[in-house]
Amino acid sequence: MNETLERTNHTPSPVQPITDPVQSASVKARMQELIGRLADQHSLTEEEYAYLIDHRDAESASSLAKQADRVRRSIYGNKVFTRGLIEISSICRNDCLYCGIRCSNKNAERYRLDPEVILACAKEGHELGFRTIVLQGGEDPFYTDEMLSGLIRSIKEAFPDTAVTLSLGERGRESFQRLFDAGADRYLLRHETADPVHYAKLHPKEMSWQHRMDCLQDLREIGYQVGAGFMVGSPYQTSRELARDLKWTETFRPDMVGIGPFIPHHDTPFAHEPAGTLELTVYLLSILRLIWPPVLLPATTALGTIHPRGREMGIQAGANVIMPNLSPVGVRKKYELYDGKICTGEESAQCRGCLQQRMESIGYEIVTERGDIIK
Ligand code: SAH
Repeated sequence: MNETLERTNHTPSPVQPITDPVQSASVKARMQELIGRLADQHSLTEEEYAYLIDHRDAESASSLAKQADRVRRSIYGNKVFTRGLIEISSICRNDCLYCGIRCSNKNAERYRLDPEVILACAKEGHELGFRTIVLQGGEDPFYTDEMLSGLIRSIKEAFPDTAVTLSLGERGRESFQRLFDAGADRYLLRHETADPVHYAKLHPKEMSWQHRMDCLQDLREIGYQVGAGFMVGSPYQTSRELARDLKWTETFRPDMVGIGPFIPHHDTPFAHEPAGTLELTVYLLSILRLIWPPVLLPATTALGTIHPRGREMGIQAGANVIMPNLSPVGVRKKYELYDGKICTGEESAQCRGCLQQRMESIGYEIVTERGDIIK
């Protein structure tokens, strides 16, 4: 198979890295004007967001990062909130083209954690100082509303000071309601892309962009703190799609926005696609902070995977959350959404210690708090 041909077939081409480091005076002036207006009014047009992306250079990146850090400090100081991530299942009924645990990947090792094991991980997390527990997984029908409600109740009963976040994909409104009634506080469901045409290129035809949007709306109406987000550098993404994601975020105002670089997984149709970049992800983190100052913005594991100091750079550019892994070490490698995922060998305590040190090294402080949004 001719991979090169396959790769160059894409129209339009992915967002290019910065090619011309010397911007003309008029471009510089326009960039400064846009950054100033974004910092003041937290809003630009889709065309203006695309311009910010297309004309970025080291100077605009540094200017955005400075403003984003200032804005974040004015609300959250130098605090970094943590979420203990428990990856409860690698079994998924969906077939997202980018994801290593898509159902048609016959090489993926599948596992699911029993409620007792999940509860034990939550206990360990609480002892380590986590006050948010995230249950994430593939869309695995094993986890019925009844089972999850019982699990959520047990966690909330044992640790009333701890927020429970779910990230279990699309479910029906009734299901979301039942889990909320059982005590779940937050739900993470990345919108993946705000453009329906782009969405259709990343997902099988059974999945619908509109349904994902409806889920986000339902979650909000029910009363969850809602997290959305998207991959940076996903196949077929251009500055136009990213500008849409930014405008959508500006309008929906999610409590949390998770973004990380797309990283190819060897057993997916996107195995030979280029990964998203550290540089663009960090740039977008700064823009997101300025669009919606109180937003909870994680420096994601994917960001730490494409660069050894990716998470530190994300925090310095405006992110304020990290999500260390609390899954049993034995299953961590099996929750393989993309190649090269970091932190699959360490114990949970080691992960927390390591991150604490990393954050202190750049002047930020990991805190033991729920870390709710301050609006
Ligand atoms: N099944 C849940 C949880 C998905 S995993 C759901 O549908 O919401 C969490 C996120 O990982 C996804 O939303 C996706 O944006 C990201 N992800 C999946 N595959 C990835 C890849 N190859 N590179 C980077 N991020 C990926």
